[in-house]
Amino acid sequence: MYFVMSRMKFMNTEIDNLTMSEALQTIDQMVQHSHGAYVVTPNVDHIVQLEKNAELQKAYAHAALILTDGKPLIWISKFYKRPIKEKISGSDLFPELCKLAAKKGYRMFFLGAAEGVAAKAAVILQREYPGLQVCGTYSPPYGFEKDSQEIEKIKKMIQGAAPDILIVALGAPKQEKFMYAYCETLGVPVSLGLGASLDFAAGNIKRAPKWMADHGLEWLFRITQDPKRMAKRYLVDDRKILGLMLKYRKQK
Ligand code: UDP
Repeated sequence: MYFVMSRMKFMNTEIDNLTMSEALQTIDQMVQHSHGAYVVTPNVDHIVQLEKNAELQKAYAHAALILTDGKPLIWISKFYKRPIKEKISGSDLFPELCKLAAKKGYRMFFLGAAEGVAAKAAVILQREYPGLQVCGTYSPPYGFEKDSQEIEKIKKMIQGAAPDILIVALGAPKQEKFMYAYCETLGVPVSLGLGASLDFAAGNIKRAPKWMADHGLEWLFRITQDPKRMAKRYLVDDRKILGLMLKYRKQK
């Protein structure tokens, strides 16, 4: 498969160095041939968390596909003179996946976001991509990951719906930990951890204008939308990326 050929070391993780179209072809292959595979999309925030979070590291180590989300990581790869081909944001990948699923008849399940958001995203996307089969949606209550009954309920729901593609939109590291823990048992061919993608699709959160995303300013836009939460993430936590950039510079 494509992704085996494309792996390279990058900072504290590995990356599959693919274009958007190669990534989609790989996911298409996985839908047809895999069982319990999952995809992670590292951004600056994940790289910073990966440095210290052993559970996230474990989840990353078992990911079938690792796609780079966000311009800053592309810049760092250029600085290292081992450029990553293309930024593949979860929120750009998601509509492309819906298009692919509609064309090929793949069934999708949306898990995550606040109550009602996953269902709203399904309605909007099915209108946008005629033929798209969303076989189930569920936005679990906060704290669900510590509630074994809730976990069982989610597992039954997904297994009953039998999707080909599962979208897990719980934010990092919750979505990666969920996929690591349950993808194997769920047996869905491929799952993807896609952060705020359901919110974007439902129109709950506005996406940054394309020029801002293209210039690596998505973080600035997101601070304006949710100052309390995003300012801490982008201005305090993610500043550590500069030190990490230097730390991993010499890596082969
Ligand atoms: N979320 C959730 N359950 C939780 C924690 C988060 O469904 O227990 C959702 C939240 O509603 C949002 C997404 O996970 O839709 C996280 O978005 P975030 O902004 O962290 O994503 P990213 O910036 O990584 O795309």
